[in-house]
Amino acid sequence: MKTVHSAELFSTAQEVIPGGVNSPVRAFRGVGGDPLFMDHAQGPYLWDVDGQRYIDYVGSWGPMIHGHAHPEILEAVAEVARRGLSFGAPTAIEVRMAQMVCDLVPSIEMVRMTCSGTEAVMSAVRLARGVTRRDKIVKFEGNYHGHSDSLLVKAGSGALTLGQPSSAGVPEELSRDTLVLPYNDLAAVTEILEQWGFDIAAIIVEPIAGNMGCVPPAEGFLEGLRALCDRFGSLLIFDEVMTGFRVAAGGAQALYGVRPDITTLGKIIGGGLPVGALGGSRAILDQLAPNGPVYQAGTLAGNPLAMAAGLKTLELLQQPGFHARLATNTEVLCSGLKAQAAQKGIALEVNAVPGMFGIFFSDRPVRNFQDVMAADTERYARFFHALLGQGVYLAPSAFEAGFLSAAHDETVIARTLEATEKAFATL
Ligand code: PLP
Repeated sequence: MKTVHSAELFSTAQEVIPGGVNSPVRAFRGVGGDPLFMDHAQGPYLWDVDGQRYIDYVGSWGPMIHGHAHPEILEAVAEVARRGLSFGAPTAIEVRMAQMVCDLVPSIEMVRMTCSGTEAVMSAVRLARGVTRRDKIVKFEGNYHGHSDSLLVKAGSGALTLGQPSSAGVPEELSRDTLVLPYNDLAAVTEILEQWGFDIAAIIVEPIAGNMGCVPPAEGFLEGLRALCDRFGSLLIFDEVMTGFRVAAGGAQALYGVRPDITTLGKIIGGGLPVGALGGSRAILDQLAPNGPVYQAGTLAGNPLAMAAGLKTLELLQQPGFHARLATNTEVLCSGLKAQAAQKGIALEVNAVPGMFGIFFSDRPVRNFQDVMAADTERYARFFHALLGQGVYLAPSAFEAGFLSAAHDETVIARTLEATEKAFATL
């Protein structure tokens, strides 16, 4: 592998950017070695600054569900850009976006745009606290909800990769109001709700955990959370920043048929530009400023370029058969990986939902944070590098999900499986 230009850039970057990166997982700390700097992308491929091509299973951490540089999305952005980049006043395209989100996501009647998933979740928690007039929230171990103070407690994703699931700088009073429970353990949630239920503003959950690899909900888990929230008057927040529009056009709530009170969105809704959103019933969303007492705002919220990229992305994923194809392709990849590992006697668990997967070098099913932590991360790192050398770019951390796009067709998957076959042989 050639890394001359990446190495040069990384060296300079480390002088002027903390850790040389603008988001921690990019730094390759989870797999060792130095990050590759990317130059351009097309369809399922990334090209680094040394001219090497990779099949990309990171997909910018989720947004690129149609592959990179999709011509219709680029055209939509270019057309809007010619009319001005930002107005700080309402625009028609924001209304179209809101209508489309309300049409697609079962529990959403109203939606407010933000500039990132973090902001969406931060605002959702404030809204839940404002509506219920309660302070405590329940979250799950290994779930990541962005980097706002109340939620950086036993978090997943980069916080987990760096061994800092709970960040320095979060006031103790805030983390005291965040109760952390094991994912997929309804008995534990019931016990805590029975003790604290009427103090709990919200239960926030990744309906499919995607920030500790990929861990789908156990049967009855989401339904159980819904019932507990109803019993104690707490709100149920589905953080669908990752799963929204990916696992189904209506997100995980459509896939599993469970309706949250508030949904947070991000990633795909911006088509690769910085966007987040929070939505829910009219009664709850009307509590946001200017109609209600819960303050929430953003200079660039609803930015026209971001709306154009997002709208076109949402339009394209409503084509007939889109998610069925994504599900089939994910299944072909994941069953191929399992068969190859089994043939080589390598203990491997692969969790998959449409368009998303998690690879765990483990001999036990992976259903929660403890199972994730029991997997062999050192082996993942070797697998990662063996694939990188063959032009396949997996997430540079064992704790991240992999993502497929519509551009990952049979040929691309077959080429990936040729590489994984060789990678398994090196372990
Ligand atoms: N919530 C979930 C489930 C996420 O996966 C992420 C990011 O990975 C976030 C929230 C935060 O989103 P952002 O990185 O856009 O702030």
